[in-house]
Amino acid sequence: MADYLISGGTGYVPEDGLTAQQLFAIGDGLTYNDFLILPGFIDFTSDEVDLTSALTRKITLKTPLISSPMDTVTESSMAIAMALMGGIGIIHHNCTAEFQANEKFEQGFITDPVVMSPHHTVGDVFEAKVRHGFSGIPVTETGKMGSKLVGIVTSRDIDFLSEKDHDRPLEEAMTKREDLVVAPAGVTLKEANDILQRSKKGKLPIVNDSDELVAIIARTDLKKNRDYPLASKDSRKQLLCGAAIGTREDDKYRLDLLMQAGVDVVVLDSSQGNSVYQINMINYIKQKYPELQVVGGNVVTAAQAKNLIDAGVDALRVGMGCGSICITQEVMACGRPQGTSVYKVAEYARRFGVPVIADGGIQTVGHVVKALALGASTVMMGSLLAATTEAPGEYFFSDGVRLKKYRGMGSLDAMEKNNSSQKRYFSEGDKVKVAQGVSGSVQDKGSIHKFVPYLIAGIQHGCQDIGAKSLSILRSMMYSGELKFEKRTMSAQVEGGVHGLHSYEKRLY
Ligand code: GDP
Ligand code: GDP
Ligand code: 5GP
Repeated sequence: MADYLISGGTGYVPEDGLTAQQLFAIGDGLTYNDFLILPGFIDFTSDEVDLTSALTRKITLKTPLISSPMDTVTESSMAIAMALMGGIGIIHHNCTAEFQANEKFEQGFITDPVVMSPHHTVGDVFEAKVRHGFSGIPVTETGKMGSKLVGIVTSRDIDFLSEKDHDRPLEEAMTKREDLVVAPAGVTLKEANDILQRSKKGKLPIVNDSDELVAIIARTDLKKNRDYPLASKDSRKQLLCGAAIGTREDDKYRLDLLMQAGVDVVVLDSSQGNSVYQINMINYIKQKYPELQVVGGNVVTAAQAKNLIDAGVDALRVGMGCGSICITQEVMACGRPQGTSVYKVAEYARRFGVPVIADGGIQTVGHVVKALALGASTVMMGSLLAATTEAPGEYFFSDGVRLKKYRGMGSLDAMEKNNSSQKRYFSEGDKVKVAQGVSGSVQDKGSIHKFVPYLIAGIQHGCQDIGAKSLSILRSMMYSGELKFEKRTMSAQVEGGVHGLHSYEKRLY
């Protein structure tokens, strides 16, 4: 873009603004509000901006947004919604290991569906519907996967049956094998889609040469494929999902369950990640599950990052004390303003091909753009995504405002619920609890399916103003010095906000 300006006829353009290196050479820790990005040249529309970015060494996302592993932010509904929108959710671990592993969601080929035998009863199907939310159940000889397919039951087969039919065996209610449309193992999702379309059924069982059941496909999921083109998926076409774990012995059991559930990435959840515990855990995971992507952190300096990179992490989570619910800087005296943390760690980690997640302190979509412009590959959010429909917890009203609870994982409130969040914020022998977070509430934001598209469009507009047609271009403009920044005085910050109005309404999307 600079070339275009300079070759534009009137000749020399004086240097203006600071490179990122100059901005951070000043030495003061900077937050996202302490600087601005100078605009560049636009020769593309905002919807052309490609937001593809690395989550870890091996996983790429089409949307660089992550929901934080907090018990008021990410359980399965959030993780599914974030993955459908092209980002990813990290399931929190302030719960039992079994609960966390069950939150893993699959899409595409369901390789471990609920299966029954012909001797199961209609009542069993009703029970499965209540427990799991679906009633499309393949029936095999033994009631297990890998056994001969003998039929299928779906909601239509049982909807009109009454209490007295509950003891009837499925062989009387199911559609039998000879009437079933099936697909052979090895079928692609596209072929399966065509078969489902032709059969007009809701489920497609997949069988091997011996007619044994190996997977099923649900029509609802294929519809989602069409409706969510950005969706983050793994090689089996299942939605990507991450989970947080700690660094204690019992987290190894949690890890095994998560692996069985098909987790794609684990986040080692420590507020100060540069520890012997975390390094030992990284070594353990890398030896036991070499393919699993591991995010280390949190870190805010290159020296902290070095130890975790040496231990083999696939991404780093950056931020200490910048979260909206966080009182770490106040209580522990440690931390760093987030703009500086992101720049310093990303600038170091990129030499080793390790992507950086800017975690916490994101209050607006502009902050997301700034984090990405400072070298972060993705951005993790808590408060911004809390109080969406997909966040855990019920809405409540206070003074006529619709709210959901949002709390720090190091708040006393969260630590009292279960002891796994204590581990992030406490040392082994601590007798007295020292809270590092607060508990509060945030205002209703509606659904992730509306809110994330707003964030995506906002980031694309920001990149367009900068003149960067993709996030990789944005980062290379920053490192080459082409991207220019400027510090913002207090009065500049006042000027940049709404001011001088008697009253106003701020609607964002
Ligand atoms: P059903 O017609 O009642 O079976 O429900 P739908 O097909 O509309 O939705 C079922 C949803 O649950 C789909 O998104 C599936 O991917 C998901 N699912 C996850 N595990 C299973 C499973 O074991 N069996 C079935 N039938 N669906 C599952
Ligand atoms: P639903 O809409 O969730 O009830 O499920 P489906 O559309 O999958 O099934 C509707 C009816 O068709 C039920 O009676 C099923 O048992 C039956 N059914 C499911 N798959 C097949 C198939 O491949 N062939 C035939 N003939 N019937 C099927
Ligand atoms: P937010 O997006 O709300 O500004 O920040 C979310 C981030 O704050 C989380 O991803 C996590 O890194 C951090 N965090 C969550 N709970 C606590 C807490 O209780 N104390 C501290 N220090 N940080 C927290």
